[in-house]
Amino acid sequence: MRSILLVFLVTTIVTTSPPAQTTEGAAWILLYHHVSNTTPEATSITPEMFDEHLDFLARNEYRVVSLSEVVTRLVSDELDSRSVAITFDDAYKSVYTQAFPRLRERRWPFTIFVNTDAVDRKSNAYVSWAQLREMEQAGGSIGNHSRSHAHLAAHRANESSEQWRARVSADIVHARQRLAAELEQPLALFAYPYGEFTPELTALVRSLGYRAFGQQSGPLGWGVAELAIPRIPLAHGFADLASLSEKLRTRHLPVRVLQPASPVLQPNAAAPTLELQIATGPFDLSQLACYVSNQGRAKLNWRADEPRVVQVKATRALPVGRSKYTCTAPATNAPGVYYWYSHLWLQPQPDGSWYDG
Ligand SMILES: [Zn+2]
Repeated sequence: MRSILLVFLVTTIVTTSPPAQTTEGAAWILLYHHVSNTTPEATSITPEMFDEHLDFLARNEYRVVSLSEVVTRLVSDELDSRSVAITFDDAYKSVYTQAFPRLRERRWPFTIFVNTDAVDRKSNAYVSWAQLREMEQAGGSIGNHSRSHAHLAAHRANESSEQWRARVSADIVHARQRLAAELEQPLALFAYPYGEFTPELTALVRSLGYRAFGQQSGPLGWGVAELAIPRIPLAHGFADLASLSEKLRTRHLPVRVLQPASPVLQPNAAAPTLELQIATGPFDLSQLACYVSNQGRAKLNWRADEPRVVQVKATRALPVGRSKYTCTAPATNAPGVYYWYSHLWLQPQPDGSWYDG
């Protein structure tokens, strides 16, 4: 018995392969901003289409659960493939006027990630603290979306790592203090502004006691990083029922990112190479396909010297701003189901400064 255990330990230590997938469970976190006909299309869903989404979830017997429950299931490896959580970023007014009445009527939980300065400024575009309290008492929960909603991953000119850390930490802690002062029970959950994260930022967010969410699309599943949890953005162009239905048929493709360590590219960088080691699971790797935002398919190069390691590369340089590589492979045991992994890239401006928006 002891020798078997020893062999297992040695194997675990020396192997470079990720372990086999332990569960096929999944969950999905939906991400909305505005629910309105009059706000920018890129971050809006119409109230009518939002109704259709809620009807679709009910009709197909998804369980709309709290974000906390989904995270608990994720970290304890108990995802049940029926759970969906609904989230809103930025605390826009239409979340209160349009989304909240519809969710309250169904008694479905939801989460709002609040950038606190926007609420403290009492802008008409945003909800008030009183409205947030009302929603919190009626099935809503509130998470941290920073104080400033700045590009937190960006360093200012001549800013040292220590200065960056102090500035960004103060931003997030201020938001935490405002949420704690105004609300009953704010969550220890953080949503990165613009969905932008780097290893430096995820380490800082972890040190503040948070788990955190991006905006890279994808399901939850075994192996998802707790500091870069994907959500499914549903807005203009990707908000129809076919898109929603397709996303809810995805499972997490379990990968280990071998390189690069950071999504931030050099100014004027050539198309980046993403090297992934893919765990085993019930999907067909021979049909792996990777896509680049606004470009189409990426080139794949399977390493001959390393099992299940693939290099993914766009055919053209990525534009300034955020891009993604998304890799999918069809399930071998469920028709129409795709295993899915989406990888974030951040391309600064040619002069090295961060972009706006
Ligand atoms: Zn935001």
